[in-house]
Amino acid sequence: MNILLFGPPGAGKGTQSALLVEKNGFAHISTGDILRAAIKNKTPLGLEAKVIIDKGELVSDEIVIGLVDEAISGLNNKPFILDGFPRTVVQAEGLDQLLSKMDKKIDKSIFLDVDTDFLVKRLSGRRVCRGCGASFHVEANPTNAEGVCDKCGGETYQRADDEPTSISKRLDVYEKSTSPLKDYYQAKGSLVKVSGIGSMDEVYDRINGVLKA
Ligand code: AMP
Repeated sequence: MNILLFGPPGAGKGTQSALLVEKNGFAHISTGDILRAAIKNKTPLGLEAKVIIDKGELVSDEIVIGLVDEAISGLNNKPFILDGFPRTVVQAEGLDQLLSKMDKKIDKSIFLDVDTDFLVKRLSGRRVCRGCGASFHVEANPTNAEGVCDKCGGETYQRADDEPTSISKRLDVYEKSTSPLKDYYQAKGSLVKVSGIGSMDEVYDRINGVLKA
């Protein structure tokens, strides 16, 4: 089974993907993670993407469709989760084309539903590990020692796009470009809405219930 997780920034896509990888054995494809790795390695793509990401805007459809094509092709048929892709209807159409070329499909398109007030709180308190990418929250899920990742001992930091001006831009971009995906996947019959409010485990249980249904 292949699934995609979409929803507004801060809905918990990355956190839930990590649980689904650990407990259900999915491969994880996150376009945000791929782009951040390119930035860290200062590749030409990373240098181009950094300016766009820090402003809270979207990287071009063509680039991210290419990244996902490469990532899925390298999986050897392992079931996968797409996290943060597609983010536009053009990307969703591109995904359909590349999946049909590979004779694969998305079985469930899971929309993680969280109110805007929660999103701002979640995003502004989020801290991410520079080493392993683990995600924490200063109030809801703090690290044991401030600034130090519980998982790998790396340094945690606030993403530039979790600063207030980028957050509001990302929420606007989400409303305009990503939220139409609900109608897109509803029409295809694969949309499942899951509330993203509650503890990590509560939300995971809801998603796992959907996968078993
Ligand atoms: P994320 O980690 O999924 O929140 O992504 C962080 C940032 O990377 C986004 O705000 C975008 O600038 C960029 N990005 C990630 N995925 C995509 C995508 N599918 N399409 C365009 N830009 C993306």
